[in-house]
This record gives sequence, C-alpha cells and structure tokens, in this order.
Amino acid sequence: MAVILDGKAVAEKIKTELKAQVEGLKTNGIHPSLAVVVVGDDAASRVYVNGKIRDCAQVGIQSWEYALPAQTTQQELLALVKKLNVDDEVSGLLVQLPLPAHFDEKAIIDAIDPNKDVDAFHPVNVGKIMIGDYDFLPCTPAGVMALLDAYGIDVTGKECVVIGRSNIVGKPQAMLLLHRSATVTICHSRTKDLKEVARRADVLVVAIGKAEFVTGDMIKEGAVVIDVGMNRRADGKLVGDVNFAEAEKLAGYITPVPGGVGVMTRAMLMKNTVQAAKRSASRR
Ligand code: NAP
Repeated sequence: MAVILDGKAVAEKIKTELKAQVEGLKTNGIHPSLAVVVVGDDAASRVYVNGKIRDCAQVGIQSWEYALPAQTTQQELLALVKKLNVDDEVSGLLVQLPLPAHFDEKAIIDAIDPNKDVDAFHPVNVGKIMIGDYDFLPCTPAGVMALLDAYGIDVTGKECVVIGRSNIVGKPQAMLLLHRSATVTICHSRTKDLKEVARRADVLVVAIGKAEFVTGDMIKEGAVVIDVGMNRRADGKLVGDVNFAEAEKLAGYITPVPGGVGVMTRAMLMKNTVQAAKRSASRR
C-alpha cells in the first residue's frame, strides 16, 4: 500500500509558517494583499475564488474580490487590471480563469504587471521559469515540488514522466523537475505507447483532465504518483486523473483527490502573495 502524500497537512503547515511571516512583515509596515478578479458566474471559479479569499483571511493577507458581470467588456476588464497594477496597496493580482468566451485571455494576462502576477502566467514569469531565475512559480507545479520536498522525495536522476503539456501545469512542471536534475519526459494526447512510457516513471505526474484515466497497468511498482486532475464524475464525486484504487496498490507514494495537489496549489498562491509584497517593499 502506498504512502499517502497528505497535501492538506503540508499546506496547513506552510500556511501557519506564512501567517507568522505576515505578522512579522506587518510590524515592519509591509502589508501583503491580494486582488482577485472574477468575471461571470462559472460555478467552479466561484468555489476557487471563495477558497482563495478564505486562505487569505487564514494567513492574515488582506484581500479584495472584484466580481464582475459576465457581460463585462475586454476594455473594462483591462481598465481594472491597469488600475490594480498601479495601486500600491495591492501586492498580488490575479484574474480567475477561464474567462467568458468573448475575452482575449492572453491580452488580459499580458496586461498584468509581472511583479504582481502571483499566478505566474505572464510571459515574463513563464520565461524566467525556463532559465531557473524565479520570482513567482506557477502555483500548481510549485505545490507539487513542495509536497515532494515535504516527504523528502529527491528526484535527482530519476525518470519523471509528466502527462499533459498545458502552459499552467504540464510544461512548467516538467521544467521544475528538470531544474532538480530529473530525467523528464512530457507526454500528451499524441504520445505513442503512453502506457509503456508511463510505466517507466519513478515519478509520474498526471495533469490531463480525464477522470481516472491512468490505470494500474500504467504504474511502475513503487512509483511516486502525483495526481493533478480534478474532475467531477456524473455521480457528483470529485476524482483525479488517476484511478486511485488501482494505483495505490502499486505506487510507493500517491496523492489523494481531494487533499493532495489542489490544497498545495492554494498554499503556493499565499506564498507568492507574500513574496510579491516583500519584493514590492524592496523596490521602494
Ligand atoms: P489542459 O489545458 O486541458 O491540458 C490537458 C493536457 O492533457 C493536454 O496537454 C493534452 O494533450 C493532455 N491530454 C489530454 N488527453 C490526453 C490523453 N488521452 N493522453 C495523454 N495526454 C492527454 O488541462 P490543465 O489545465 O493542465 O489541467 C489538467 C487537469 O488538472 C484538469 O483536471 C484540471 O482541473 C486540473 N488542475 C488542477 C489544479 C490543482 O490545483 N489541483 C490546477 C490546475 C489544473 P494535448 O496538448 O495533446 O491536447
């Protein structure tokens, strides 16, 4: 039976440490804060935003939520982003994705000040990840690395397979593993013999968005299995991209869903917001 990588416990520990840091910063006149912009009434976005606001309160970070109606125009959203960019009270800024279909998401991300881009989606921050010169790391891959670290799992020289090549998870995840000297393979929907490639992995990270897609026959005995996926099954149950019941029999370590990567992602957003406040103070 696999060891469960308890993201909930690790995330709580990180948030407790951040809370103490925030208290210290406040005594020095530095007040970390986060502006969260959400457009429309996507139910999943609503849940994520509520979670972020709650985390801020827990860690002592001031937060503002800007909930805009679905019919908001590109120009109106850009104007709000530009206003928040120059607001000295705001240390971190994010626009909850996905945006309604009429928005040019890329243009909105490009408009965010890279110094406040706590999601690390701006091209400047993405480029910095490539060269290993980080200000902010994207929250999900950073959360995965923090979870591996918390359990003393060293990826140096290991075969790491990342399934999924999105800009927000798969690609930066592969890069972070590479920076730790893992041997990294990235798979996607056109990968041939996916099963064979996955079965080579000492560390398998799955981020594809398909409920319980990775089955036991894709997992090497003793592998570390990181399930990034979050999918709502027809019966309402939240499940990952990995068939947990099959995988846990073979894996050495495995993340649960929920309680694995998702909560770590949220903790990393808090970490990035504190980092943004510190960096902003050092520029003054
Ligand atoms: P995405 O942008 O839709 O990307 C999915 C990736 O999976 C693509 O690269 C796609 O390949 C690949 N893929 C799809 N079907 C495949 C298959 N049958 N075999 C191999 N590869 C396949 O998704 P994402 O934003 O990265 O999110 C992935 C999952 O993680 C979702 O369930 C999402 O909800 C979850 N997520 C969780 C967190 C968290 O905090 N836990 C954060 C972000 C996302 P192609 O490029 O070839 O199309």
